[in-house]
Amino acid sequence: MRKKIVAGNWKMNMGLQEGLDFAGTLEEYFSSKPAACGVVICTPFIHLAGAAAVLKSGQVALGAQNCASEQSGAFTGEVSPGMIKSTGATCVIIGHSERRTYYHEDDQLLNKKTRLALESELDVIFCCGEVKEERESGIHFDVVKTQLEKGVFNLGSDDFKKIVIAYEPVWAIGTGLTATPEQAQEMHHFIRGLVENKYGTEIAENLTILYGGSCKPSNAKEIFSKPDVDGGLIGGASLKKEDFCAIVEAI
Ligand code: PEP
Repeated sequence: MRKKIVAGNWKMNMGLQEGLDFAGTLEEYFSSKPAACGVVICTPFIHLAGAAAVLKSGQVALGAQNCASEQSGAFTGEVSPGMIKSTGATCVIIGHSERRTYYHEDDQLLNKKTRLALESELDVIFCCGEVKEERESGIHFDVVKTQLEKGVFNLGSDDFKKIVIAYEPVWAIGTGLTATPEQAQEMHHFIRGLVENKYGTEIAENLTILYGGSCKPSNAKEIFSKPDVDGGLIGGASLKKEDFCAIVEAI
């Protein structure tokens, strides 16, 4: 059975206490009013251990936004998947376009991070998506196909089942531009078809594919109503309780 998920990506926002207070607010809200889908918050590393202690009901899951490609050792400033797991977090975002662009993370590195995260028993939200010029020149399907082939399609079936794919057209992230529900559906359907070819119908049908890119309360319902859109990865709107809860409820 395909799982619907709304995941918040806090990015580099909120000091320690502010973040823990916000996690507490979401815990209070969803523990008294359980969502009809999985709810996840992906916080900065500094919040993880404290947020894990706050999110007691199990109604809101916790994830990181990145991880190291090594498990331990002399890698100053890095945080490994095992360390993330030790905080109580259960998942990690890998391959966000901001990591690909600003930190030059390539497909090979993202594949290594994904394998290590899975070995550490973290679920992975693996991001893919084209930039504006790629869509305008009509190569967006090829771009996404290559990102998935190099990033996750070399995993065995049991590992692949622990992956959630987030399609995030880069031109829609933080820009206020949103893919139309039809554009999102078209790409999600394409991705599901690729997965079917590689892993078979059952795994493809059970795969959760999230849409990300300027998703907000006013457009979430229409986007989520498409048959291959199984929820969202939410950036800016995940920082406001009313907006995030409304997007969760749009499912
Ligand atoms: C994101 O960062 O994953 C994202 C989708 O951001 P926004 O919702 O702000 O476009």
